[in-house]
Amino acid sequence: MAEIQIELPDGSLKSVEAGVTPYDVALTIGEGLARQSIAACFNDELVDMTAPLDASGTLALITQNSPEALEIIRHSCAHLMAQAVKEIYGDEVQVTIGPAIKDGFYYDFYSETKKFVPEDFPVIEAKMAELAKEDLSISREVMTRDDAISLFRDMGEAYKVELIEDLDVESVSLYRQGNFVDLCRGPHVPRTGIHKAYKLTSLAGAYWRGDEKNAMLQRIYATAFQNKKELKTHLARLEEAKKRDHRRLGRELDLFSFSEEAGGGLVLWHPKGAMLRAIIEDFERKEHTKRGYELVVGPQILKTDLWKMSGHYENYRENMYFTEIDEQGYGVKPMNCLAHMLIYKSKPRSYRNLPIRYFELGTVHRHEKSGVLHGLLRVRGFTQDDAHIICRPDQIDAEVKDIMKFVQDVAGIFGFDYTMELSTRPEKSIGTDADWDQATKALQSALEDSGQPFDINEGDGAFYGPKIDVKLKDALDREWQCATIQCDFTLPERFDLTYVGSDGEKHRPVMLHRVILGSIERFIGVLIEHYAGSFPLWLSPVQAIVLNVTDNQAEYAQKVFEQLRAAGVRVESDLRNEKLGFKIREAQMAKIPYMLVIGDREMEEKTVAPRFRDGKSLDPVSVTDFIDFIAQEASAHK
Ligand SMILES: [Zn+2]
Ligand SMILES: [Zn+2]
Repeated sequence: MAEIQIELPDGSLKSVEAGVTPYDVALTIGEGLARQSIAACFNDELVDMTAPLDASGTLALITQNSPEALEIIRHSCAHLMAQAVKEIYGDEVQVTIGPAIKDGFYYDFYSETKKFVPEDFPVIEAKMAELAKEDLSISREVMTRDDAISLFRDMGEAYKVELIEDLDVESVSLYRQGNFVDLCRGPHVPRTGIHKAYKLTSLAGAYWRGDEKNAMLQRIYATAFQNKKELKTHLARLEEAKKRDHRRLGRELDLFSFSEEAGGGLVLWHPKGAMLRAIIEDFERKEHTKRGYELVVGPQILKTDLWKMSGHYENYRENMYFTEIDEQGYGVKPMNCLAHMLIYKSKPRSYRNLPIRYFELGTVHRHEKSGVLHGLLRVRGFTQDDAHIICRPDQIDAEVKDIMKFVQDVAGIFGFDYTMELSTRPEKSIGTDADWDQATKALQSALEDSGQPFDINEGDGAFYGPKIDVKLKDALDREWQCATIQCDFTLPERFDLTYVGSDGEKHRPVMLHRVILGSIERFIGVLIEHYAGSFPLWLSPVQAIVLNVTDNQAEYAQKVFEQLRAAGVRVESDLRNEKLGFKIREAQMAKIPYMLVIGDREMEEKTVAPRFRDGKSLDPVSVTDFIDFIAQEASAHK
């Protein structure tokens, strides 16, 4: 047998016979390690513990605690779940696919007769535990494409047959554990006994291959971890997320709703939600004007020809809505760029006018498939805090830095941490090397100057320019894509935007597309969950509520209410003849920051006794002092 050299992560070399497996190599180091390892990384490729090593190379064992382990464990656990489902329901259910995803995995099943319900979860979990306890070994087989097709056809697994038929390969790999076999590239954990911490979490419908013309499948979401402790922490966080679900809080706090009569993905903003929006929009207008942006407003629909010119018709048509007026086609805007360019073009521009920064709270409509609509996070009509900066190439640098500073300020005000990513030139792209170089360098140096760490996604930029994406991290450590800054060379070209340079010649400006919060709808959804509905004072749609102790103070309480309202405090009153404790509880449920309790003493002394929603009381103050206090706190974004 030929000898091969295996280099381990610590740099040590082992001479072994060709054909040995990572498991064999692990055994030479220690039995514990061999048992703990779930897969290996051989020459930078993930392989099974049982894969024969037939060439020299580097080998790193992946133990249960390695960072790469989780995805392998989760995907393997998807097989375990599918195996359990097949053992319980047999031919009644067909298997399709089951990938690992962020936070867990899912498996999509097809059945004409079986309708999964959450009550099935404990049954499936019990079967999974049984199969894990049997500690079945998981083995890889390679089969010709035709053999694999007939194998799955004999098993009645039509979806697997279709998957293999679509593969342009000679052979495929299968993984077998007990009676269960699945088409898969792997790698997988070596034994079912590895699985000790998993939980089925929810159900959803999903079209086969994401296409609504195909059959509807039943998706079971689940999660798996290396150990029970990590699973428990994760489940506690899910529970907290459920409590904070913006759809539930949106209903409880009477902020917004959706109506089938109006149509899916179209938000109805109730008075309190509309107030919250107005507060955020006012904040945005103020923050933009003080940073040198000018407010503009474009029309909701623009001629189809214009969308052809911009390339949206060609590349983005399926996501757009169209209409017709006097036999002329119009497209409902999915983006705000075009009107901004027309405003720019409305007169000649000189290099001295640049940069020009147009800001619009632009309402756009995009066609999202009904299956992906999700509360405020994924809607069909939404408003972006959208700006287009038209500048000279030498100005990109300073502009991007200002935007980064803007993002930093805003994230701080709302109390978010954030991470950033730079996406660079993809293979298919337009624009000159020099353009890309300058723009990419500008984005990168702005990121470096921000002092925050960032990732680079090589080749992940748009075809028309590089971009920065900012992801906010909420109170539960979840990430939300919000701000983006995109450098664009195409649209100025397509729309023939020019400025007259100091040389008297016409030049082409660059356009930066950028949003700070992104979609206001989505941002509010994130905010609701981030604050669990307890908005800080400056954002609270209702900042205070006046409560009288008995009818005796009703008249004075009404006067206090009117005085506060006239002074611009967002205030409500509850003068019902109910017990004070009951009224306080209701106000707390509504998460109103301040309750102003008025009893005989307050009435005599012409004061109010503020009480914060968490139960803390402040000393009684005069109404005017309370008005000043609220104004101060709110202007400090508290
Ligand atoms: Zn697999
Ligand atoms: Zn744009």
